[in-house]
Formats: sequence, C-alpha cells, structure tokens
Amino acid sequence: MDFQLTDEHRLVEQSVREWAGREVAPRIKDLDRAHQFDPAIFPQMADLGLLGISVPSQYGGAGMDYISLGIASEELEYVDTSLRVILSVHVGLNGLSLLSWGTEDQKQRYLVPQSQGRKIATFGLTEPAAGSDARGIQSVAIRKGDRFVLSGEKMWISLADVADNFLVFAWTDLDKKKQRDPSGLSAFIVERAFKGFSSGTIKEKWGILAGNTGYFKMDEVEVPEQNLVGRLGEGFKIAMFALDQGRFTVAAGATGLIRACRDASVKYAKERKAFGTEIANHQLVKEMIALMESDYQVSRLLWQRAGWLKNTGQRSTRETGLAKWYSTVASEKAAGNAVQVHGANGYSDDYPVGRFYRNCKGAVIYEGTREVHTLMQADYVLGYRSDRPTRCGLPRYGGHSEG
Ligand SMILES: Cc1cc2nc3c(=O)[nH]c(=O)nc-3n(C[C@H](O)[C@H](O)[C@H](O)COP(=O)(O)OP(=O)(O)OC[C@H]3O[C@@H](n4cnc5c(N)ncnc54)[C@H](O)[C@@H]3O)c2cc1C
Repeated sequence: MDFQLTDEHRLVEQSVREWAGREVAPRIKDLDRAHQFDPAIFPQMADLGLLGISVPSQYGGAGMDYISLGIASEELEYVDTSLRVILSVHVGLNGLSLLSWGTEDQKQRYLVPQSQGRKIATFGLTEPAAGSDARGIQSVAIRKGDRFVLSGEKMWISLADVADNFLVFAWTDLDKKKQRDPSGLSAFIVERAFKGFSSGTIKEKWGILAGNTGYFKMDEVEVPEQNLVGRLGEGFKIAMFALDQGRFTVAAGATGLIRACRDASVKYAKERKAFGTEIANHQLVKEMIALMESDYQVSRLLWQRAGWLKNTGQRSTRETGLAKWYSTVASEKAAGNAVQVHGANGYSDDYPVGRFYRNCKGAVIYEGTREVHTLMQADYVLGYRSDRPTRCGLPRYGGHSEG
C-alpha cells in the first residue's frame, strides 16, 4: 500500500487551492448572498485543465488519474460547493460517461470541446415526479426515421440554465415503460441549440446559492440517432455507471467541506473566549473538532480507495457508494457542529460556516439519498446485491497521468 500522493497530485492540489483561494474565496460570500452564478468561472477552470481533468489528451483532456479528480473535487468544495458541482456534472457524470460509452464520433463532436471547456455539459435524469425512483421518469424518445423525438421535463438539474450539452435519459420502449423494466430506457446527447429545448433556473433554492440549478423541457426535440449513447436500452446502465463517477466527486467534495468546517472551527475556537479562556479549552468544543478531524481522515481514505480502484480498472460501485454516503452524512454533522462552535456568530453570514451548513445538505440528497445508500450498503453485506463488470468501463490509469 502506498498512501503517498505523487508530485503530480501535489501539483493539482496546490494549483486548485491557490486558484480557488485567490479568485473565488474573496468573492464567494457576495456571490452566495446575491444567488449569483458566475460563468467567468468556466474559462478559468478550463485553463487549469479541470474541465477535462481525467479525460485523455486525445479527447482534449488533461489525462490525469482519478485520484487527481478527487483532489480537485476536495479543493474546490473546500472553498464552495458550487465549484465542485461543476466538476461533478461536467466531468464526473457527463464527460467520463461519454469517454466510456460514447462512439468515436460522439467523443470528437462532444467530449473534445467539453474537455477543452469550449462547451459545458451536464446530466439530466431527475424529473418533477421521479428522483430516487429513476424507473418512474416519464420522458420518452420516439423513433422517427433516423431521429428520436424527445419529450419530457427534467428537474433539479445542476447547470441546467447554463450548460450547452445534456446527457438525457428517456424511455425508448413504451411497453417496458408500463412494466417499469429499465431495459426500455436509453441515453441521448441533447444540445441546448436543438429546436424545442428550453430551460430555467430554480430561484427558491436555499443552498449552493452561487451555483446554477434548474430545469429543462423537451418539447418534441428531434435528436439524430448518432446521439444515442451506448446501445438502445442501455440508458439505465449508463445512468448508474455515470453515478459511480459523480458520487466519487461528491464524496471527495464532502471531504473538503469537512476540512473547511474543521479549519474554520479551529480558528474561531482559538479566538473566542468564554469563562476566562479560549473556547478551544472547553472539552465539549474539543470533542466537536476531534469529530471533524476523524471524519475528515476517514472520508479521505474512503474516496482515495475508490479512486485507486478506478485507476486500476476495477468496478467500484460499492466502495464509491460507501465513500459518498459516509462523507456526505459526516459533512452534515461537521457543518452543524461548525455552526455550534461559532455560537450566534455561526448563525449569521459574517462567518462561512452558515454557508457550509446550507451547502452540505444537497449532497445528502443528490446522487443517491442517504436512505438509498443505507439500503445499498446493507444489501451488499447481506448478499442481496452484487455488481458485475459493465459492458464499457473507465480507462485505467497507472496512478499517474498518461503522459
Ligand atoms: C442541489 C441539487 C442538484 C441536483 N442536480 C441534479 C443533476 O444535475 N441531475 C439530476 O439528474 N438530478 C439532480 N438532482 C436531483 C437529485 O438527484 C434527486 O433530488 C435525488 O435523486 C432524490 O430524488 P427526489 O428529490 O425526487 O426525492 P425522492 O426520491 O422523492 O425521495 C424523498 C425521500 O424519500 C426517501 N426514499 C425514496 N425512496 C426510498 C426507498 N426505497 N427507501 C427508503 N427511503 C426512500 C428518500 O431517501 C428521501 O428521503 C439534484 C438535486 C439537488 C438538491
């Protein structure tokens, strides 16, 4: 076992930390308060190679391994969840799915510009009436000659109102839709520019306020058959495959959020005095900080193990799910305790911990709710669930960049 990060990993850590600390940290409170998403973030992330971080250079990416993807996620969410969400949907859910399941033509037309940051991409599975129950979605794709006609509405989609390309899931077999047989679902690449596509922003959201979350509607959108991803009927498998990568970034991101809670709490606990001493000297305050530290270290080990499995070409659905579940639940605890350590000051926007508290909750809901992951982990242990290799897999990395 080797727990050392490579020089390349350290470089990713340092460059993302410096950039986010310099360019975003000073502005994030104002952006968050104004509910403002800043699209100028995209070209800056592209310059750092983040928008194609684990995509091979032949497809416009930086060719770095999955540990690098995790490190970038951790560093981004240390500053704000909205930054990590970009990586989760653009690279984790969309880009790496096209890399693994897309045709060469799809990779050239979509993955290359996305990895270079010339196009922004996201993932549309959830609908107004179906989230955890993905088989309950209502969107349909009806074949018409050499095209599919897509109709339906997707809800709670990150970057919905700003992305160019969407990985969308819809029923192509209406009999199977009635029977809820997931082999009737297919995956498509839909462009914002396609006729019949419209989108909007969810304004009532109370967390990740510097990020864009919205909905999109497809009103008989004609999609060329060349944009079918994978084979007809493989949509459910592709959606679940995509979540393995999305959850990985969420796990590493939540780890960064726990670290941010820890660091803010350590700082405040040594500044604030009560009963004649720094509050850091009170044992129950120490306990909260110690819990943040242990949860940070455990969460980091869990996502790194999942990243190692991905690097070595092994399926990691179980390990990635465990990492995502553990770290997001732990981040909610850490953020709640960070507010507690700050007392009433934590209850205002003068300190960042209130933002951490609002931001952490989303990750306990998206990419498999806490309850869905609880059931999954129980089922693995009980022998009710096991995973077989998928038809298409992630390319392996030797623990360092392809170059
Ligand atoms: C900020 C944000 C960003 C998002 N971004 C995206 C995105 O980019 N793309 C996308 O496709 N989706 C996205 N989502 C949607 C997200 O994936 C769903 O919200 C999530 O899957 C849960 O679905 P739901 O909200 O419909 O809740 P439901 O599925 O209705 O669940 C409601 C409650 O019931 C529980 N529950 C449901 N079924 C069971 C069961 N079998 N056993 C026990 N408990 C159960 C759940 O755990 C939950 O507590 C986003 C959501 C948020 C909040």
